[in-house]
Amino acid sequence: SEVKEISEGMARIKTYGNVFYNPVQQFNRDLSVIVLNAFAKEYKPESQTPWEAGTKYDDGIIILEALSATGLRSIRYAKEVKGVKEIVANDISVKAVDDIKRNISANAVEDLVTASHDDATMLMYMCRKERRFDAIDLDPYGSPSIFLDSAVQTVKEGGLLLVTSTDMAVLAGNSPETCHSKYGAISLRTKACHEMALRILLQCIESHANRYGRYIVPLLSLSADFYIRVFVRVFTSAKICKQTLSKLSTVYHCTGCGSFVLEPLGVIKFNEKNQQIKYGLPTRSLGGSCQHCDHPHHVGGPIWNAPLHSPQFVEKLLAEVPQHLGTFKRIEGVLNVIKEELPDSPLYYTLEQLSGTLHVETPSMIMIRSAILNGGYKVSYTHMNKTSIKTNAPAKFIWDVMRI
Ligand code: SAM
Repeated sequence: SEVKEISEGMARIKTYGNVFYNPVQQFNRDLSVIVLNAFAKEYKPESQTPWEAGTKYDDGIIILEALSATGLRSIRYAKEVKGVKEIVANDISVKAVDDIKRNISANAVEDLVTASHDDATMLMYMCRKERRFDAIDLDPYGSPSIFLDSAVQTVKEGGLLLVTSTDMAVLAGNSPETCHSKYGAISLRTKACHEMALRILLQCIESHANRYGRYIVPLLSLSADFYIRVFVRVFTSAKICKQTLSKLSTVYHCTGCGSFVLEPLGVIKFNEKNQQIKYGLPTRSLGGSCQHCDHPHHVGGPIWNAPLHSPQFVEKLLAEVPQHLGTFKRIEGVLNVIKEELPDSPLYYTLEQLSGTLHVETPSMIMIRSAILNGGYKVSYTHMNKTSIKTNAPAKFIWDVMRI
């Protein structure tokens, strides 16, 4: 069959048997290289098992690329991430593993990268007790959902999961019932569907982690081209797992005007020393139709309502984006917008949606933004949409501004 030669980052690879390679995903791989560099620099896992207690971390992190195809990503990690001790490049396809082996030796990374031929879930289940990984990269076709149960168990304490989903139609509301069966949440078709997709995926990873007394902390969550990618750390604490309900919300999305309201699944009360004192189900409940236009709501979720990114981590990434990366400009642009995204205001409106609903002329972005700021509220863009309006202002205020 046809031989394709690919050169990306510091890797030169060949693929012989129609093994998957998508050049558009270079952005995804470049970004993952930067994230792993920043992660490896500061990461000190706390030991959870006797086996890990005996491990020395000074000599670097161990990465599993569970769905590796040509091995390109693993080879790039070996050559471009500082502080890597070992990488396992796994694929279920024989042809892919042949490619991986050839590419490992052509790039002379035998000392760092090992090829593995296994079903990713089986491999992870087999490693979950004795040989956990500091970072696990899941980059499947379509949905990652079937790999999550094993991945959340096989990543070390404080370790990193890097997860792609190209399942955008399902996550963005075209098929809410399929979304529920794959991800345990109902997606809605809204203008903020990309953020909804990220928040459904995070909710799904969290729910898998919670089954094993673990929880996630997102470092960076991204929507790009036709996929989403999240980078989350995984920790263990039964106490913090109890707070999950407060990090999840039901979404009420008005079928008439597109206004949305989030209702957390649970509430936590803290005392003045910031100690958790009480946990309870919410006492407020949204019933009836939309207060702005009297249409009924679609009810979706649960979605992750806690922050999508760690601001400190994003700052670190921005300080260290290497200029030689192919997608350097794009990464820097996206990270700069992400840095400004309001952390505590999930979802967003778009300018055309607001003016279209009211049948008014579209005001300039500057006008609507100043009006929101003058009203004493906050507003930002999101990296997911050029005309996005992310704000903590109530919907009523936004509609009033638009009607002036
Ligand atoms: N990560 C690669 C990259 O950046 O170029 C692309 C991976 S490709 C989208 C998905 C790969 O997953 C395919 O090579 C396929 O053979 C492999 N795959 C599918 N199901 C698998 C499974 N259960 N276990 C291991 N590999 C699997």
